[in-house]
Amino acid sequence: MNHPPSRLYLLYHELRASRSEYSYVVATGEFERQVDLFSNLKQTGEPSLWPEVTFDDGHISNFEFALPILQSRAIKAWFFITVGWTGQRPGYMGWHELRALQEAGQTIGAHGWTHTLLTHCNASELHRELVDARLTLEDKLGTSITTMSLPGGRYNQRVLAACREAGYTQIFTSIPKAEPSSTTPTPGRLNVRGDMSLEWISSLFHPGSRVLSGLERQYQMKSAAKSLLGDRLYEKLWAILNRKEPDTDAGEAAAREDSAHHQ
Ligand SMILES: [Zn+2]
Repeated sequence: MNHPPSRLYLLYHELRASRSEYSYVVATGEFERQVDLFSNLKQTGEPSLWPEVTFDDGHISNFEFALPILQSRAIKAWFFITVGWTGQRPGYMGWHELRALQEAGQTIGAHGWTHTLLTHCNASELHRELVDARLTLEDKLGTSITTMSLPGGRYNQRVLAACREAGYTQIFTSIPKAEPSSTTPTPGRLNVRGDMSLEWISSLFHPGSRVLSGLERQYQMKSAAKSLLGDRLYEKLWAILNRKEPDTDAGEAAAREDSAHHQ
């Protein structure tokens, strides 16, 4: 390979044995087929985009379902943990599971303390979400923690400065775009929804594919609308507009889901 290809980071949350209405859930079988696709792309020499797997929130299914699938294919992923939920909140991993992930060679990063949107935090809240989260992970896992992902994907310049100040060298966003290298300071990610087909995901990696750049454009328009209207008005408007529209494609649906739930 002459030069390393661009990266595409995929973002997952929860896996379940069967399909779910809830779009942040990906069925285990689907995930397995997607990981096989990534593994094949990496093995066949020079993919135009190099896939990487990340998980947000620290759901217990990351340990129960994702880890064995990743391990059997020798794939290393990132797991971004909501530290205040660890061993506290039902359905989320405890320290035992996080240590097992780490011992398996997976990377642990932070995803805040309470999952509060960082753009809504004052200075002392940011300290808890960023510094306390990092120090607690380091203390419990005995390793240095230098990566994090932004709850809800939300950030601004003040938040980014606080993240860097807190010791994070890589801050993962939820902007669907490719990254030119593995060391970019704010890597974007594509949120994988339960209803995205393997065919569609595979099309992202076709040489010359415009699918990803189309998604990024949609994301940027959505962000512009959000900052223009404010979060609440934007969500109301989005809900009204989308009740009338049929579900046309995964990107649009992802954007709609984002406004309702997580991003
Ligand atoms: Zn999250």
